[in-house]
Amino acid sequence: MKLYLTTFILIFTLISCQNNENKSKKNDTAMTDQNNPLLKDWNTPFGTPPFEEISSKDYLPAFKTAMKQHNQEIGNITNNPEAPTFKNTIVALEKSGHLLKRVSNLFFAVESANTDKTLQETSKKIKPELAAHYDQISMNKKLFDRVNEVYKNKDKESLDSEDQRLLEETYKNFIRSGVNLPADKQKRLKEINKKLAALSQQFNDNLLAETNDFELYITNKADLGEMPQQAVDAAAEEAVKRGHKTGWSFTLQRPSIYPFLDYSPNRALREKIFQGYANRGNNNNEHDNKQIIEQMVQLRAEKAHLLGHDNFAEYVLEDNMAENPENVYNLLNQIWKPALETAKYDRNTLAEAMKADGINEPFRASDWRYYVRKIRAQKYDFDQSATKPYFEVNAVRDGAFLLAHKLFGLNFKPLPELKGWHKDQQVFEVTDTTGKHVGVIYMDFFARPSKRGGAWMNEIREQSNIDGHFVTPIVTNNFNFPAPTKSMPSLLSFSQAQTVFHEFGHGLHGLLSNVKYGSLSGTNVPRDFVEFPSQVMENWMSDPEMLKLYAKHYKTGEVLPASLVEKMNKAN
Ligand SMILES: [Zn+2]
Repeated sequence: MKLYLTTFILIFTLISCQNNENKSKKNDTAMTDQNNPLLKDWNTPFGTPPFEEISSKDYLPAFKTAMKQHNQEIGNITNNPEAPTFKNTIVALEKSGHLLKRVSNLFFAVESANTDKTLQETSKKIKPELAAHYDQISMNKKLFDRVNEVYKNKDKESLDSEDQRLLEETYKNFIRSGVNLPADKQKRLKEINKKLAALSQQFNDNLLAETNDFELYITNKADLGEMPQQAVDAAAEEAVKRGHKTGWSFTLQRPSIYPFLDYSPNRALREKIFQGYANRGNNNNEHDNKQIIEQMVQLRAEKAHLLGHDNFAEYVLEDNMAENPENVYNLLNQIWKPALETAKYDRNTLAEAMKADGINEPFRASDWRYYVRKIRAQKYDFDQSATKPYFEVNAVRDGAFLLAHKLFGLNFKPLPELKGWHKDQQVFEVTDTTGKHVGVIYMDFFARPSKRGGAWMNEIREQSNIDGHFVTPIVTNNFNFPAPTKSMPSLLSFSQAQTVFHEFGHGLHGLLSNVKYGSLSGTNVPRDFVEFPSQVMENWMSDPEMLKLYAKHYKTGEVLPASLVEKMNKAN
């Protein structure tokens, strides 16, 4: 997936700016805290963030200063005595908030992938303030009057297609943010946006807390079944980390829960960890999310009504390729029947296998993965762990790089001297066939308690090219793969290897961007288009020609045997 900060995406799109480190106005430094590395010019290789200088407590004051600066820039636009033009209004707006964008992009990337108490506290404080900040701009009548003036006279200026697109998007975002609402409704909308920002943060914090709070500690080796050594070692290391002298600890992070559900013959324990996962935020404790969901649903409905829509889905989809809920349901209904039939067939097959094990009880969701694995082994002689030695994480990464080289002529050079936000992070410079710098990609592969679940991509700096000043992109890829243990490298399952190519596809979408305006660059596209480049790239992962080039056994260098691929395809 591609990470969107849903609460702010519209306003970020609206206010998105040029990331131009050298063009900061001279008075920037006078009004900022001299010691805050987030507010200084970054005289680093390729303008990458100086992570070794930045600490978690720097973000909150940086946000405050950056918002103040942004307000001044907006003031300069609205107070401009000249008649509004595309350049002095739309482009000026696009360029404004450069510092805030830099701080926000970095903060939300780090807060998702390597959070701590300070970052969580900062997020809690700043999200409602940011919502209010952007509302103040997008409901600014004086500013909108200028935008509207440019919009009405768009045929009188010679605008190219990208200029026109920026103008359309800017105008539309003001309307969708409620600029034309009467004052009382604007006031309520601002309250709603602030509350939604706070609630979404609370929801995420609760989810992470519940994920980290759960532990399944076992001491009976039989409960591990035929679990691969990599997962057993990781569980033993986790037990030590959690203060046990012996035994194995399993958590709700995917590299831990999946092997347990796949391999443990202990049905009751499988149910325990499965329910632990499914009920995160549903334990009637201080991290319960039920009321938060209820409040969010109500507030979103109210927001949609205020903005003249029947429901929130209609409001969101209006700005996407799907256009309306009817189109979404038409697609889903076509899939629903055959998908349900297939799921029922699978469930019955798996339930039969359980019966054959002598268990005459209703088949449960927590039995699913265990019997999928068993049937694959029995019927198709395929064990998914058999492919893992061929997908060592760095080999898969190099496969993705090789693909980008073959398709787009890109080259990737490690930058070991550049620090990331975590010691496990890898940094690469991307260049084209002529050796010209294209951008930088940060890759963060392993699961840890400070990282939220799933896999995603961020843009720390968007590509832009205003007035001939080309700003190159900086992107990140984030995963939750098993970290190497003392005895084993990080070996990926087939679908995890696919995820590398998928997220890398989002990364390329950002890296290969070549437009003028940052708010239209890279992955700043409709939500229901953004998964297209990633899914195209994902399909290359299992291409037989590609597999030959990168899927090699981590010990012997042997290429993934075609017979194993064939077995796997049959088993799937
Ligand atoms: Zn994706």
